[in-house]
Amino acid sequence: MNHAAMNPLAGKVVVVTGAARGQGAAEAEALTAAGATVIATDVTGAPGCLRLDVTSEAEWAALAARLRRDHGQLHGLVNNAGITWRARLGEVTADDFGRVHAVNVTGPLLGIQHLAPLMPPGGSIVNVGSSAALTGHYPVAYTASKWALRGLSRTACTELGPCGIRVNTIHPGFIETEMTASAAPAFRDVSVRETPLGRTGTVDDITPLVVFLLSDAVSFVTGAEIPVDGGYTAHGGAKSVSDAMRTAAPCERKPC
Ligand code: NAD
Repeated sequence: MNHAAMNPLAGKVVVVTGAARGQGAAEAEALTAAGATVIATDVTGAPGCLRLDVTSEAEWAALAARLRRDHGQLHGLVNNAGITWRARLGEVTADDFGRVHAVNVTGPLLGIQHLAPLMPPGGSIVNVGSSAALTGHYPVAYTASKWALRGLSRTACTELGPCGIRVNTIHPGFIETEMTASAAPAFRDVSVRETPLGRTGTVDDITPLVVFLLSDAVSFVTGAEIPVDGGYTAHGGAKSVSDAMRTAAPCERKPC
């Protein structure tokens, strides 16, 4: 295998938010393995991460100044940091709704505003959405924030395209991280039942796509939204119907 194939991100400087654990930590590791110089950031200031609260404009400005000084330019940004809040429609407060929006939408907005000016043509931004952004998932603050992130991504794709900067969104399904570890067991069970591939995802299901989207191999791909969810959002509820009908009228000829 040649050098470019083994190190598709060689020479690139990439920022990952929310990189202390979960998908962000795995993304930082995979991007480094692909040859990138990774600036891992997190609100916790965990070891190996630069402290960055994505809701703080001052902290984004400080990061931009530091990147300009240390690297001159930036080639990739992964807006991965996110929080969930599982209050339902009738019980969510305006404060909690706003807090989730601040991290999941305003954070990526500030990141794009402060870091895109450091990107030369070929720069690539990956926003981490959710299967909630493609459905009416019950945690309303989270779902609404991830739908808003889709809108931000589409506008950023339009606005940054003339500068040669690509903006794509990935939509993870149920991925095993600390975020989902705190969910009720029923949520996990139903998620698996509604996933055609019949399992939850791992961080290793996410990272290859992030590496790919940051690489020059997909230099004409922007504005895309790619589910990484084992088919969870593909069937629009029809899986339950299919499963029920299979039970009611078992098929003689198996498809596989
Ligand atoms: P996680 O909770 O394990 O990790 C999130 C990270 O973001 C943590 O390290 C946390 O400290 C950091 N963070 C939180 N608030 C921050 C802030 N204000 N500034 C900077 N960092 C902050 O979650 P995860 O499962 O790894 O999720 C990563 C992304 O994937 C999130 O955007 C999440 O919404 C999305 N997502 C997760 C799943 C899933 O099933 N795990 C599914 C769909 C989408």
